[in-house]
Amino acid sequence: MGNVRVTVIGESGGAPLAGGATSCYMVEAEDHAVLLDIGSGAMSLVQKVRPFDSIDDVIISHFHGDHVADAGVAVYSRLIAMQLGRPVNPLIFHAVEKRELEMPPYSHAAIIDEGTEERIGPFSVSYMRTIHPVPCLAVRLSCDGKSIVYTADGAFSDRIAAFASSSDILIAECSFYPGIGNRDAGHMDAYDVAKLAVAASPGKLVVSHLPIYGNREEILCCIKERWKGEVLLARPFLEIEV
Ligand SMILES: [Zn+2]
Repeated sequence: MGNVRVTVIGESGGAPLAGGATSCYMVEAEDHAVLLDIGSGAMSLVQKVRPFDSIDDVIISHFHGDHVADAGVAVYSRLIAMQLGRPVNPLIFHAVEKRELEMPPYSHAAIIDEGTEERIGPFSVSYMRTIHPVPCLAVRLSCDGKSIVYTADGAFSDRIAAFASSSDILIAECSFYPGIGNRDAGHMDAYDVAKLAVAASPGKLVVSHLPIYGNREEILCCIKERWKGEVLLARPFLEIEV
């Protein structure tokens, strides 16, 4: 049984910190890499982990800039690689709409939504619509009996807790400090993430989509007071393996 590795590329919500990136996570198994979102700054940082030519699939949770900003330059990266004659596959985006993602022969867009079950390399992938101002999909990837769940953006709900249930790694968005959250914004605060962890009981919790102001450690403390499992604050290049 091979391992599944998650590498955080970008962990900021809304806008990147200096030298950082917004939402982007790399999930690897059996030498196949899938990106979950490709936010601002992601294209620059991801190449420090793996050559972009070797990444064929990018799942776009939703069309907000902090999740999709670098999709256009990812296509240009393929265009340049093909013009130079490098042996690359077209980039496959998986998203609820094609928009500008479909640019053959450099890229194609596979339409996904809640209820879609697809195979990406060694992964079985399923999706769930979250509570967010625009259509947004949480993602569950399974491989060799191991599962990775990414909440994408969304308010807490019993449905997301059930979707994330017993995942080996749960990447949860936490857009707000404790009590400062606004459920109407379609996001979780630290209390919500603690509630999610208690309900879903993941093997490891990675808290991400973090505020770009204040002291992020406060989020970690708040969650640790309410849930006794293993919890990590996302940061660029954090690697978690199961
Ligand atoms: Zn969003």
